[in-house]
Amino acid sequence: MLDCEVKNGWLQFVEFIQSRCSRTEFENWIAPIQLISSNPDEIVLEVPNIFVQEYLLNNYKEFLREFIPLRSNKELALEFKIAPPKKVTAALPKPIEEAPAVENSGYELKLNPTYRFESFIEGPSNQFVKSAALGVAARPGKSYNPLFIHGGVGLGKTHLLHAIGHSIHEEQKKLKIQAITTEAFINDIVDSLRNKSIDRMKRFYRSLDVLLVDDIQFLQNRLNFEEEFCNTFEILINQNKQIVITSDKPPSQLKLSERMIARMEWGLVAHMDIPDLETRVAIIKNKAELKSLQISNDVAFFIAEHIYHNVRQLEGAINRLCAHARFQGTELSIEAAERILNELVQPVHQKKISVESIFQSVAAVYEVRISDLKGDSRQKNIAFARQVAMYLAKEMIEDSLIKLAASFGGKTHSTLLHAWKKISDQLQSNEELSRQLQMIRRNIEK
Ligand code: ADP
Ligand code: MG
Repeated sequence: MLDCEVKNGWLQFVEFIQSRCSRTEFENWIAPIQLISSNPDEIVLEVPNIFVQEYLLNNYKEFLREFIPLRSNKELALEFKIAPPKKVTAALPKPIEEAPAVENSGYELKLNPTYRFESFIEGPSNQFVKSAALGVAARPGKSYNPLFIHGGVGLGKTHLLHAIGHSIHEEQKKLKIQAITTEAFINDIVDSLRNKSIDRMKRFYRSLDVLLVDDIQFLQNRLNFEEEFCNTFEILINQNKQIVITSDKPPSQLKLSERMIARMEWGLVAHMDIPDLETRVAIIKNKAELKSLQISNDVAFFIAEHIYHNVRQLEGAINRLCAHARFQGTELSIEAAERILNELVQPVHQKKISVESIFQSVAAVYEVRISDLKGDSRQKNIAFARQVAMYLAKEMIEDSLIKLAASFGGKTHSTLLHAWKKISDQLQSNEELSRQLQMIRRNIEK
C-alpha cells in the first residue's frame, strides 16, 4: 500500500463516519482527530485527549479495519498521540475557588413540565417507587441516598425523576438541582475538556444539592467517564447531597466497575414493574381526559388488554384515537378502536430475512440474474441493482457487514458501505427509487 493510499483510507473513513453519525457526534469526537503522519506500515493520529481515542476505538474499530492497514498480527496499524496542551495558563495549580456568579447565570433547570407527581398514576407496580420518590422529594439527602430506580422502557422512570425535581424546586427554591441524561453528562465532560473548562465543570457538579441522572446504563463501557462520575457521586453523597439515578437494569447487572455498582447500591434500589390491567385502564382514562377525549370503559379496557408492557405505547394509542375522534366527531366504538389500533396491537412476527431472498426480489425487479448481483460486472443496470441489494442487505439484515459483503461474491465491507451510502443519498430525492424499494421490501417480507 502506498503512503497516499493510507492517507486516503483515513480520509475516506472520516467521510464515511460523517455520513452516518450526527453532527454533534462528529464535531465532538471525530473532527478533533488529526492525522499527523502515515507510512505504509503505520498511521499516527493525534487526539486531544484519551476520551476521544477510546471513543473512536470503542465505536468504530470494526469500520477502521476496513480503511486502515493492519499489522501482521491483524491489529490496526494505528498509533495515538495525545495533543500537547495548547497554552499553559498558570504555572501553579489554581486553588479551587467559589464558583463565580456568572457560572450560575447559564444554569437552568430543565424538566419536562408534564412529568409531575400529580400526573403520575399509581398502581401496585409502581407504588413502592413512587413513595420512595416522594420521600426523597420531601427530604432530599436525608431519606434514601442514592435512590436508584430501574425498570423497562416507557414505564415512567424519567417521569418520576423529573417529578422529584419539580417537587424539590417548588418547595426549596434555593436548592441547586441538575437533571441530566447520562449522555449529556458525558458530552459535558467532553465539551469542557475541549474548552479547557473541566475544572469549572467539576465545580459545577460538585456544588449541586440534587443531581438527577437519567439512564445510567449509557455509562457502561465508558471507563474514563465512569471514573469522573464516580468521583462526583462520592463527593456529593458525602455531603448528603441527594442523588437519584434511573437505569434499565438493576445495579448488579450493569457493566460498570465494582466500585460504581457498590455505590449505587448504598441507598435504595427500587424496581418499577409493568402496570397491571387496572392501572393501565386508569392511565388511559387519565390521558384521554387530559386530551378531552371521550372514551368508554369498554374501549379503555380493550386498549389496556392489548397494550401491556409500555406506558409510552398507551399514550401513542391515545394520540391516534384522539386524532381519529376529532376527524370523525363520533364517540369511539370498540370496532373503531380495534381498527385504528390494529397496527399497534398486532404482534410483530418479524420473518428472518436472508440475503438470498433479497437477491431474488432485486433480480426480479431489475431484471438481472442473481449471479450478476454476486459478480463484478460494471454494466450500469447491473451495478445499480447490486447496490440496491447491498443497501437492502444492510438495512434489513442484522449481521456483520463483513459477512453481508461476503455473500455478494466476496466483496469487501467498504464496497457494501459505499453502495449503501449511495443508495441512501439517492433515496432522499428519487421517488421512483423509493417506490421500487418499497415494492422489493414488501416482496421480501411476504
Ligand atoms: P421511561 O423513562 O421509563 O422509559 P418515561 O418516564 O419516559 O419512561 O414514560 C413514558 C411515558 O409514559 C411518559 O410520557 C410518561 O409521562 C408516561 N407514564 C409512564 N408511567 C406513567 C404513570 N404511572 N402515570 C402516568 N403517565 C405515565
Ligand atoms: Mg427515560
